[in-house]
Amino acid sequence: MCAVAPVAFAEKPTPRIDALVDGMYPQLETIYKDIHANPELSFRETRTASRLAAEMRDLGFEVTEKVGRTGVVAIYKNGSGPTVLVRTELDALPMEEKTGLPYASKAKADWNGRETFVAHSCGHDIHMASWVGTARTLIALKDQWKGTLMFIGQPAEEAGGGAKAMLADGLFKRFPKPDFAFALHTSPSPYGFVGYRVGAITSAADGLEITFKGRGGHGSAPDKTIDPIVIAAHFVTDVQTVVSREKDPAEFGVVTIGAIQGGTAGNIIPDTVLLRGTVRSYKPEVREKMLAGIRRTAKAAAAMAGAPEPAIEFGDGGAAVINDEAVVQRTVAALKAQLGAAKVVQVPPITASEDFSEYVNAGVPSMFFFVGVSDPKDVAESLKPGGKPLPFNHSPFFAPVPEPSIKMGIQAMTTAVLTAMNK
Ligand SMILES: [Zn+2]
Ligand SMILES: [Zn+2]
Repeated sequence: MCAVAPVAFAEKPTPRIDALVDGMYPQLETIYKDIHANPELSFRETRTASRLAAEMRDLGFEVTEKVGRTGVVAIYKNGSGPTVLVRTELDALPMEEKTGLPYASKAKADWNGRETFVAHSCGHDIHMASWVGTARTLIALKDQWKGTLMFIGQPAEEAGGGAKAMLADGLFKRFPKPDFAFALHTSPSPYGFVGYRVGAITSAADGLEITFKGRGGHGSAPDKTIDPIVIAAHFVTDVQTVVSREKDPAEFGVVTIGAIQGGTAGNIIPDTVLLRGTVRSYKPEVREKMLAGIRRTAKAAAAMAGAPEPAIEFGDGGAAVINDEAVVQRTVAALKAQLGAAKVVQVPPITASEDFSEYVNAGVPSMFFFVGVSDPKDVAESLKPGGKPLPFNHSPFFAPVPEPSIKMGIQAMTTAVLTAMNK
């Protein structure tokens, strides 16, 4: 790991950000509630994208729509200087919101041939309101920086493939390749706080699909069959030893089998059993070790039963987001000056994954950080023994508190961009 030379940090807060954000907040809350009540699924964010595109055009950005199917790219040139990318996601989740909020989503859509509710239960609507607010603040402060703003609205973070689609559609070729990139994400921690980390802040995700092949037959005559249910059962428990016995215990790694499909009736031994799972890790060497262990364990479970080799497929769910050390150090110093040191806290990496890693891996020094969105009283209550659990991202009860969460998102992101511009 490279050492970072001491940097001369901005010691003074940038004036006017607070006042600007306070002044524009009511409008941003209106945008937030509108997007919240009208969520759209991955790669179908057309209403959301045009709403954001219109906001950015009003500010004087040059806007290109339909980049990577439903993505938005908004460019604002203000003299010579670095190009700084700020990303928001556009998509919502196929689930029902149960918050009971007056602006709760009642939206429904088709999802893989089935009707489903749709809800912004990951807080991407908070990100969008903060994104618009950051653009407005930076335009109002344009005498304080020089360079190019590259604000992108990315589709399909949840379903995966959105960042890849934008890059494949020429994000860094048709538009300038950024010198720095930033994204924020809601976290169920107390509002008023920003969480940061150098290095891996989200996990690498690999989808897993295994088909165990047996030989079906009558449930009363297992000797005439090869029972893939028993093979699958062995595998589901044995594979956890890859995590507990093979991987370095000090390193993060998770294997979860989330779906088992096989058989129709109690007296029929099926031909095949299909397993689906997910593998999470931070470090490439840990990931490699777990994937190899999973493969070996699956083959061994089949071999033990004298069954054919299973079909094993890993799907790319995205690499870990690795925050650039120098960018984080510089930005955190500025955030502490702007918000107060106590409001900017180092956090452990999360086990979820994020396709913001695509931009990082395309060679852009980046920082992905968290903004708390929960009432501190609710957080304190959740920490008491037997206290009410705090709804997390992807919970039907996840309900970020818009004010001051959005204001904090704008202040933090504006500070991050100004720091990068004035590097
Ligand atoms: Zn999510
Ligand atoms: Zn998310």
